[in-house]
Amino acid sequence: MSVPAFKNSRSRVRRRRSHQALKKTDSSNCLKCDSPILPHRACTSCGYYKNRQVVGGMESVEKAIDKKTKKSREVKSVKEGEGGAKLKKEKKSK
Ligand SMILES: [Zn+2]
Repeated sequence: MSVPAFKNSRSRVRRRRSHQALKKTDSSNCLKCDSPILPHRACTSCGYYKNRQVVGGMESVEKAIDKKTKKSREVKSVKEGEGGAKLKKEKKSK
């Protein structure tokens, strides 16, 4: 293993570390619920972005889940029906 040729001086180390400080992030308050939010992101407490609900709300979540389950059921039933028919047809043709 190679060894560094010279010890880093205090000043050199401190100069390097002068760029490592954390900067304070810009934050504003939500227009709806007034909780602190990060810029260009939806509010984590109410799910609003630019006065419009984009995330959350238990009703919307439940609706989405209902839609998904309904769709998956329909797709499954259709696939099973068609798939079975296709397989039978293929077997007959061979
Ligand atoms: Zn909010």
